[in-house]
Amino acid sequence: MSAPPPSTPPRGTEPPTVIVGGGLAGLSAAVGLATQGRPALLFESRLRLGGRAGSFHDGATEEWIDHCQHVGMGCCTSLLWLIQTVGLEECFRRDRALHFVAPPDPASSQPPLVHRLQAAPLPAPLHLLPGLSQLKYLDGRRRREIRRGMLALARCSGPDLDRSFDDWLAEHGQSPESVAGFWEVILVSALSESLDHIAVSHARHVFVSGFLGHRSGWELIVPRVPLEEIYGTRLSGWLADHGVEVRTGSAVRSVEWKNERVAGVRLADERVVAADRVVLAVPHHRLGNLLPEPLESHPQVTALEQLDTAPIAAVHLWFDRPVTDLPHAVLVGRLGQWVFRRESPTENGDYLQVVISAARHVTGRDREEVISEVVDELRAIWPESVGARLHRSRLVIEHRAVVSPRPGTDSLRPKQLSPWTGLYLAGDWTRTGWPSTMEGAVRSGLSAAEAVLADLSVPAQLQPPDLVPGRLAGWLLGIGRKTP
Ligand SMILES: Cc1cc2nc3c(=O)[nH]c(=O)nc-3n(C[C@H](O)[C@H](O)[C@H](O)COP(=O)(O)OP(=O)(O)OC[C@H]3O[C@@H](n4cnc5c(N)ncnc54)[C@H](O)[C@@H]3O)c2cc1C
Repeated sequence: MSAPPPSTPPRGTEPPTVIVGGGLAGLSAAVGLATQGRPALLFESRLRLGGRAGSFHDGATEEWIDHCQHVGMGCCTSLLWLIQTVGLEECFRRDRALHFVAPPDPASSQPPLVHRLQAAPLPAPLHLLPGLSQLKYLDGRRRREIRRGMLALARCSGPDLDRSFDDWLAEHGQSPESVAGFWEVILVSALSESLDHIAVSHARHVFVSGFLGHRSGWELIVPRVPLEEIYGTRLSGWLADHGVEVRTGSAVRSVEWKNERVAGVRLADERVVAADRVVLAVPHHRLGNLLPEPLESHPQVTALEQLDTAPIAAVHLWFDRPVTDLPHAVLVGRLGQWVFRRESPTENGDYLQVVISAARHVTGRDREEVISEVVDELRAIWPESVGARLHRSRLVIEHRAVVSPRPGTDSLRPKQLSPWTGLYLAGDWTRTGWPSTMEGAVRSGLSAAEAVLADLSVPAQLQPPDLVPGRLAGWLLGIGRKTP
């Protein structure tokens, strides 16, 4: 355990900040406070930590299964800060190439080709240009169109940023082939929404922060172990070592409010825990229920009803032998969108997670039918898998997986420092400048912790800096050297 900062209060002398919610936002707020030696007490209603980035226990096999594959990117500097601060590096791998699988060709009996996109030894934003030329399932005209589109997107500013991205693409000469073969493939998975529900600002953010601004911003950060091991066991162990008390299976019913300020929280069993500072890190649709009048009917709270959400589906497949040696695959023009391979610790075969984002077209369908369509797709891509036995499968759908990054909704997202004394907000739905992602959740937690520290008169900068765009990227794309 590292030494606490010199300004740390002696143990037991400062009442803990109460954090409600043990998803990544609440956990990051707790880690942020703990790094400054400030006490915190975290309540999580479920038995496990991690929230949406969590796992469930499969009683039949005694394994932890993630609700869905969770992937970060090299530009997720706050998530990486969390990983480094807690010492979780070995739980993740970095994929430095994207493997695109060409769309199905009904006229051919050959398996589709895999096209590798990786960085060339060139400065950003030129590093991906040679790689883009490798996406041969798009003809030269389409690839030129995409390059022009990316440049225009990086330079986009003003009211154009708050429009729907599919309109923007049409106006910028992007053909249906480029949209289906490139823009949709990247953005629907990065933002978990269909293009008509994505604001240009968020699409720009993915491309500028992720793909264009910095050589490593687009690399994938992929967990090697179940999320339960990362956020459940390892992170909660770190919190215990750093003086944060975590109470799982402990739901908060409401925030106590006295003399125009926060006075604590009331638990589901009616016990009251007194506190001067409460960070509410619950999903946006749970916030109103926890707040007393008059906060519940405040316009900042009622505005949250206008935030829409999108579902994500994950098809989990256990084969009795390896079916591919790719670490992941980006599937173009298929029901399954991204496939991630993780070696199973208990079995010799491949464990694949196939992610379907913006999954409204899947939620009403028969589960077995969805699984079998995805398996058929994989068998067409990797003929080796035809002989492999699928000995288990599971479809998990999260109906409210993420907040839709629609035009006009960013202004509805509240800041972490609330207008009410002693109350702070955190969650991927708060205003972070990021879409509803793990990075957004971690940023919100760190901002909430910074606000708490400022109120305790021990201000600290917890949020790490963004990746600094390369000089050439700044000049060619007109993006700031500080924050893209
Ligand atoms: C299927 C799926 C796939 C995803 N894939 C990715 C991905 O690949 N990359 C990525 O960056 N993001 C991904 N996301 C989004 C990411 O999971 C979320 O953005 C992030 O985990 C949100 O964290 P959070 O802490 O804001 O909210 P949550 O994780 O929802 O945490 C809120 C917590 O509050 C608890 N709670 C609620 N009410 C109470 C109460 N009254 N008392 C106590 N506790 C309470 C809940 O149980 C929960 O644990 C995915 C999400 C889903 C669902």
